[in-house]
Formats: sequence, structure tokens, C-alpha cells
Amino acid sequence: MKWWRCKTPFFRKVTYTEHSRTLFIYNFGCNWACSVCTYRIRDPCSVEKCREISENEIMKLVEEYYLNGKAKTVKFLGGEPLINPNLPTIAEFAMDLGLSVSIGHTNLSLMPPEGVEGVVAGIKAISEDIHREYTGNFTNEEALENFERCYQKGITLKTNTVLVPKFVDVDEVERIAEFIASIDDNIPFHIIGYMPVPNFPWRRPTINELKTAAATAKKHLKNVTWSRPSIEEISYPSKRIL
Ligand code: SF4
Repeated sequence: MKWWRCKTPFFRKVTYTEHSRTLFIYNFGCNWACSVCTYRIRDPCSVEKCREISENEIMKLVEEYYLNGKAKTVKFLGGEPLINPNLPTIAEFAMDLGLSVSIGHTNLSLMPPEGVEGVVAGIKAISEDIHREYTGNFTNEEALENFERCYQKGITLKTNTVLVPKFVDVDEVERIAEFIASIDDNIPFHIIGYMPVPNFPWRRPTINELKTAAATAKKHLKNVTWSRPSIEEISYPSKRIL
């Protein structure tokens, strides 16, 4: 079974980065099925290749890394981490130890648990028709409302989107930038060049197209960056520990 159809999400991996003293906890499964999602071209994308890591195993590891002074931050990544029913328990456990907890990748279709300090939200599209085509027919209504709710709660927000020529093009990126600016024009916005997924019709944007998208977003936002990664470059430089 592919990860984006997995109805029973589970944690599949924990990695550690020494320089930021961060534990990264990876969920398997997502409630959306984005056509441009890089998890379609990353390994593993099928449930058979993953081992489920229990809540207790993860909490034991978090405690060990707290006690030996190695960890100060816990970040949850996806698939979509907020659909994992064990996330709130692990997050609370880490917070009770005094660790900072944030969500490193989310579609924000669900709200993060209380106490989460930061969220990196991927905003796919503002136009409802593009959003539905992109995500497998899911509305963006709840996600956009949750974005504002997170802001009102004082959660530190960062955002990104994927520039896909002739799909999520410069005009749509501008709509996303306008939406973010309507909340706060200081919120950082990162534009990622699309990495082609087999069997989908879109192409990778050129550097000039990315520069144009960034210049357009900068009309609305103060902190805009862009990148044109390859699949080799998007892996987190962290060591697997579970
Ligand atoms: S929401 Fe994120 S993890 Fe889920 S399918 Fe879309 S891009 Fe992939």
C-alpha cells in the first residue's frame, strides 16, 4: 500500500542532527494525495518497506537524548504528521521535559497540539480548483483557517509552496503571497522548484521562472527565498537513530 492511501498512520523513523540538537520524527501516511509530492519519488513510499515504531520506543529515545543533553528540539515530519494519533502524547512528553516541539512539514488541515512552538506550512494553492486538482480533490478551506488560528495563538509560522509551471504558476504563487501577507507580511515564504514526478505532465521550472516568482511574491512579503533542489538534495542531513 502506498503511503498516501495509508489509513493508519504510524511513525517510521527517527533521525538526529547534532549541530541543531534536533530529533526528527517521521510519520508514514498523509490525508491528502498531492500529485507533486516528493514522497512519491523518495524511498520508502510503501508501507511494506517501513517498520512501525511505537510511541513508547520514541518517548524512551526522547528521554535518553534529553538526559544526555543531546536534544533541545523535537520536530515532526511527514507524510502528514498531524494525522498521527500518537503525536500529541509524544509532543506533550517532550514539552514536559522542557524540549521545544515543532512541526517541520504540514498541510495544516488539522491544528497542531497545544504548546507546539513552530509550524512549517506547505500552502499548495489558493484557487480552489487548482487546490483540488493538486491534492486529490481536497479543499484548502480548513488549512487556510488553521493557518490564521496558528498565527493568533502565537505559533511561529514559516511557509512554502512548489512552483509548477502551467499548474501552480507565478500568478498562483502571488495569490499565496497575498494570502500570507494578509495575516503578516513578515512570515517567511520559500518557493521550491518542482521536481518532476513520473507519470505527471509538468516540468521543472527554470531559474529565471523561480526568480520571477520570488520577485512577484516580494511585492507582498518581506522574507521570500527560493530553491531549485534535486531529489538528492532534499534529504535531511541527519543520522537515523531508530
Ligand atoms: S500534504 Fe504534504 S505529505 Fe501530504 S501529499 Fe501533499 S505534499 Fe505530500
